[in-house]
Amino acid sequence: MSSYFRPAVTAMTGYIPGEQPRPGTPVIKLNTNENPYPPSPEAIAVLQTLDSEWLRRYPTPYADDFRQAVSQVFAVPMDWIMVTNGSDELLNLLVRACADSDRPVVYPTPTYVLYKTLAEMQPAKVLEIPYEDHHRLPVEALIAAQGAVTFIASPNSPSGYSAPIADLRQLAAGLSGILVVDEAYVDFAEETALSLVHEFENVIISRTLSKGYSLAGLRLGFGLAQPALLSGLFKIKDSYNVDAIACLVGAAAMRDQAYKDACAAKVKASRQTLAIALKQLGFQVPEHVQTNFLLVTVPSHGNAGALYQGLKDRGILVRYFSHSGLENKLRITVGTDEQNQLLIEALSSLL
Ligand SMILES: *Cc1c(COP(=O)(O)O)cnc(C)c1O
Repeated sequence: MSSYFRPAVTAMTGYIPGEQPRPGTPVIKLNTNENPYPPSPEAIAVLQTLDSEWLRRYPTPYADDFRQAVSQVFAVPMDWIMVTNGSDELLNLLVRACADSDRPVVYPTPTYVLYKTLAEMQPAKVLEIPYEDHHRLPVEALIAAQGAVTFIASPNSPSGYSAPIADLRQLAAGLSGILVVDEAYVDFAEETALSLVHEFENVIISRTLSKGYSLAGLRLGFGLAQPALLSGLFKIKDSYNVDAIACLVGAAAMRDQAYKDACAAKVKASRQTLAIALKQLGFQVPEHVQTNFLLVTVPSHGNAGALYQGLKDRGILVRYFSHSGLENKLRITVGTDEQNQLLIEALSSLL
């Protein structure tokens, strides 16, 4: 069977997404960092008014309605914006366009596992550089590695910490390849590295509507970079990579920043309450987390794998990573206060 595939594809492990039960399944879903609140009412209203003509015709190739909304919200020109089918597509295009066996993909670990999957399928050389003390960005080593593409998730998953802008600036200045700042969780964070796009032609900021905007099912992401960086990516994308519905619904959600910010404020407040409750149960919880999830260390008398399973048996999904350094941790998405309370009650009975 394997002879059908390129050796790189035979050798690679595919990306394993978190469990995605069908909507309507009675579970408390705290495993893949979705927003617990519904999408903007403005976005839902647009969805309900779309007539069949939008489905019959091909969409605009560059998702211009959505680009316009992004251009207004972020005060960047239209040609500095690339719209993609989820931000995962943007990450994929970057690896495809830039990396191979002589042009490495570089990232600090632990981080988003998809970076590795994308490099393996290319195949591209990979250099993984561990975070110092779990979350300090290893700037010097990353510069020395000279990746064709260097991925920094900031805020990072699973740690929840952001990289300081000064570190990212130093990195951008020291790299001859592209620096990708993956800001999937920026809507829950204190700052953005967006200004670096104006300072450096080798920096691209990756954003998604999956987390902050409660639109993970829509599959919409975008990149912000100078036009010269985007030009190679535009050449290789699918002609109609973003569907007409995503483009219009996403534009309405993007324009409704007030709603997105209000939901993020609720999530951040709940994050604080949840952190306190988890600490009272004996979990170690990191301070100054910038994401809508917490990577917590289970109490010494507990077992992360067993807690994961026990919660699952009670209809609560969280994320457990069995790989090294994370065996005694759980990554828990911040839900509504009611969901978080049910989680705490379940954990308390399991412990
Ligand atoms: C969720 C996530 C993404 C993917 O977002 P999509 O837009 O849904 O493809 C990218 N990077 C990180 C670090 C994420 O956690």
